[in-house]
Amino acid sequence: MDTFSVLVVDDEKDFLETLVSRLKKRKIDTHGAKSGEDALKLIKNRPFDVVILDIKMPGGMDGIEALRAIKKIQPLTEVILLTGHASVETSIEGMKLGAFDYVLKPVKLEELLPKMLQAFEKKNNHDQKVRSAKIRETLKYW
Ligand SMILES: [Mg+2]
Repeated sequence: MDTFSVLVVDDEKDFLETLVSRLKKRKIDTHGAKSGEDALKLIKNRPFDVVILDIKMPGGMDGIEALRAIKKIQPLTEVILLTGHASVETSIEGMKLGAFDYVLKPVKLEELLPKMLQAFEKKNNHDQKVRSAKIRETLKYW
């Protein structure tokens, strides 16, 4: 089935497992990572259309650092940030760094799903523009 691929990154195990399984139930190709470092390992091996990324994660890499690294590896991947009320300002910072949007925790699926779809559509448009540009470039030399 033609679907889109999503990576959820969150240090809270229960939250991560619940969200991943709820998205899988909707036939979305969903993977989970418990840290920014784990997310980068996955992203280096395969591209994802959309990454859902927790802002507040303990350890070496917080959400903003992970966002920068993800955008470096996969510039066309769209990132939706998960944030608490206390870190809304950090999310705005993340938007400046290229995040697609942010969603407040506790996450409501009816809010997250349409944003995921919009993010996917934006990514898809970008992919097609890049492909078209490559084809135009090729044709010039024919
Ligand atoms: Mg967290």
